[in-house]
Amino acid sequence: MNIDVLIAGAGHAGAQAALMLRKLGYAGAVALAGAEADPPYERPPLSKAYLAGEEPFERMMMRPKEAWAELNIDLLPGRKIVSVDPTAHEARCEDGERITYGKMIWAAGGTPRRLPAPGGDLAGIHVIRTRADVDAIRAGLDSAGNIVIIGGGYIGLEAASVLVCMGKRVVVLEAQERLLARVAGPALSAFYEKEHRGRGVDIRLGAKIEAIIEKGGRPAGVRLAGGADLPADLVIAGIGIAPEVEPLIAAGAEEALGGVKVDQFCRTSLPDIYAAGDCAAHANRYAGGAVIRLESVQNAHDQAAVAAASIAGAAKPYDAVPWFWSDQYDLKLQTAGLSSGYDRAVLRGDPDSRSFSVVYLKDGRVIALDCVNATRDYAQGRRLVAAGGACDHETIVDPGAPLFKPAARKG
Ligand code: NAP
Repeated sequence: MNIDVLIAGAGHAGAQAALMLRKLGYAGAVALAGAEADPPYERPPLSKAYLAGEEPFERMMMRPKEAWAELNIDLLPGRKIVSVDPTAHEARCEDGERITYGKMIWAAGGTPRRLPAPGGDLAGIHVIRTRADVDAIRAGLDSAGNIVIIGGGYIGLEAASVLVCMGKRVVVLEAQERLLARVAGPALSAFYEKEHRGRGVDIRLGAKIEAIIEKGGRPAGVRLAGGADLPADLVIAGIGIAPEVEPLIAAGAEEALGGVKVDQFCRTSLPDIYAAGDCAAHANRYAGGAVIRLESVQNAHDQAAVAAASIAGAAKPYDAVPWFWSDQYDLKLQTAGLSSGYDRAVLRGDPDSRSFSVVYLKDGRVIALDCVNATRDYAQGRRLVAAGGACDHETIVDPGAPLFKPAARKG
């Protein structure tokens, strides 16, 4: 097979790259090779409405199947790329098929980390990354009373909120001393801890897992350091991802933060190979120029658009404001900017009202916001961060005062 642009990975970044190529008028042959059997679909509902059984898979598909054909985008499902020869411009799939390409966009994302404890590799330990993962959880839900979730990040907490609402007894084990430690400040962690506890989720912070208890080859519980055993009919691990970049690194690509390093145009160090999404380490202005990886739909979309534009001859550097969202219970968390390195966090509004924001500052400028049921703060805060973050203290602490006022147009 010979393809002008081969896209490895049919998740958010891969699908967006293909769509963007066509939107920009690129007329060459484009193929989207994905490890999964399904056409590209939205992943955020996996740990939310799809797990809850409230959203059918068909509604999660990014485009109806025929639409890809109409756009002349060749879907190659079940075609995981396992090695790349950058000199020959050739990729080899798991099934042995070889594909030659003109340019490649690597958008393979990541795979859920496995638990580094005895029994951590048991087949019945669930993860949430694909439709098949959630189908497997749902298949065991009817007979599951006790559910142990390992990891108090987005995956763990979104799953906990769905499952406790189904009447399950849910324990969340988090290694850190607070929830969402990797992505949010302490005030937000404390708020979400209170919310989850209030709904009956048993949260154990600073948890150290000694082993997974096995019965008949299946996980039956979790043993904590110190000897306490937690019974579990279902164990879900949401302990982060490992970027899926091995074929590129083996081919000599520069590595960074466990992913593949890209420049501002999403080019890797290998000729004609770009990368986008969870696996792409890049220097980010909103992290003060530090090299980071961003695991978010925003980053997948925006980096994919940059890679596609470079290939389509309309190159523009990556410079998007990072944003995320998370739905738990009736709480919509929206974040804008990156809070790492902040020197002051200011509350805007009252957490007890369940509508408030945490505003993060560095050197007197707003660098990020976590907004809970405060969509206006989020929308204005995003623009404020993009504009450099200058905002006085009185405005920040007054929930009625707009965080950002666009400059009046001249003329
Ligand atoms: P995550 O955000 O990295 O959170 C995992 C948490 O589990 C971390 O606090 C981690 O602590 C902790 N942990 C690690 N090993 C542990 C252990 N042995 N025992 C107990 N806790 C442990 O990862 P995730 O929640 O699995 O999410 C996976 C990916 O999906 C991420 O890319 C995430 O951004 C994405 N996602 C996003 C959304 C959203 O944006 N709404 C929703 C779902 C998923 P350490 O930091 O110490 O490792």
